[in-house]
Amino acid sequence: MDHFIYRDGRLMAEDVALEDIAATVGTPVYVYSTATLLRHFRLFDAALEGLPHTVCFAVKSLSNQAILTLLSREGAGMDVVSGGEYARARAAGVPGERIVFSGVGKTREEMRLALEGGLRQVNLESEPEMRVLSEVAHSMGVEVPVTVRVNPDVDAKTHPKIATGLSQNKFGVPIARAREVYAEAARLPGLRVVGIDVHIGSQLTDLAPFEAAYRKVADLTEVLRADGHAIERLDLGGGLGIPYTRSNEVPPLPLDYGALIKRTVGHLGCEIEIEPGRLIAGNAGILLSRVVYVKRGEGRDFLILDGAMNDLIRPAMYDAWHDIVPVTEPAAGAPTRAFDIVGPVCESGDTFAREREMPEVGEGDLVAFRSAGAYGAVMASEYNSRPLVPEVLVDGDQFAVIRPRPTFDEMIARDTLPPWL
Ligand SMILES: *Cc1c(COP(=O)(O)O)cnc(C)c1O
Repeated sequence: MDHFIYRDGRLMAEDVALEDIAATVGTPVYVYSTATLLRHFRLFDAALEGLPHTVCFAVKSLSNQAILTLLSREGAGMDVVSGGEYARARAAGVPGERIVFSGVGKTREEMRLALEGGLRQVNLESEPEMRVLSEVAHSMGVEVPVTVRVNPDVDAKTHPKIATGLSQNKFGVPIARAREVYAEAARLPGLRVVGIDVHIGSQLTDLAPFEAAYRKVADLTEVLRADGHAIERLDLGGGLGIPYTRSNEVPPLPLDYGALIKRTVGHLGCEIEIEPGRLIAGNAGILLSRVVYVKRGEGRDFLILDGAMNDLIRPAMYDAWHDIVPVTEPAAGAPTRAFDIVGPVCESGDTFAREREMPEVGEGDLVAFRSAGAYGAVMASEYNSRPLVPEVLVDGDQFAVIRPRPTFDEMIARDTLPPWL
């Protein structure tokens, strides 16, 4: 459910007409709904009621300071995967004890930054990383709470580029080797084992892979406890999927996911952490874009938009589907026509949809890409020297630019000439 609906023939973001945002800020532009973000965060929080828990928003899905500040004030923790994300979370006022640090390639500098600033735990992804963290923490005279991310070898049945829980993926240590790795972690100075971490992938539309993974984690909890480790936290990762199209897929609800967690690991007396990103941010954002040209091709017609793959790369990168709807509501029963919907970037990969049935839209009309809040703006680039796409946050009847569009001069001024030129 989201807060982008038609009212009096105009697509709204809460109580703001998207055409008003386009008129003020220009296009393309991302627009986020405060009410949707809060609603989704609270759904997860409520789904785990009864268990001690922290919902750590996956910062990588949508990392604007305004969004992090909003969620932090709701009590959200944060899951960060880089020094930059750690810095963002802290700058948004998230206390260190609510930040978990994940990621396969943490550097010494990133570790130091987080240890100085404070954090809840580091999720270790490999033995070499574990040894380096031990060295860094020990040299700083601190003891850092750690979990080891185990790879349960479970098929998440999602797009291969976002599956992370199979033995062929680069993430975590094989669950079969967990006892050895935990034994070493317990011996190393500067580390304090506190729990187990698992994250099997993103955009999961079925609970079965979660169930398989969490059962393995529950078994491992008993085994590691018997080995003498204090397993008191389980970080169960993120990955719950969202409906990208209103027609077929109906992913499970956070409430069902919460019930599954209670059923599989609830009896262990552990504090639960989850790291949802997409389900909180995805349907809380749209990408607003304008039709530049309608081009009649041979055998196919093109809608050429002012938004492009550099603004929203998901279709090009993951073959992702986004519903694309006109901002002016089409009349009921209005005829549709198939278009290839493309951006202006100079490569054929800059295609959002092929043969997509659309109501008649013309040059100058606005369209909205739905479900674009997660892995949208954060993956945007300035390819083709298209200034970084701006972001707007709506709350009720007010809206504010939360990241402005750079001018050409600002974009160019970031480059510097070497002294010999
Ligand atoms: C990407 C990621 C998440 C968030 O995944 P979503 O599908 O957005 O919920 C959580 N934890 C880790 C470790 C991740 O890499």
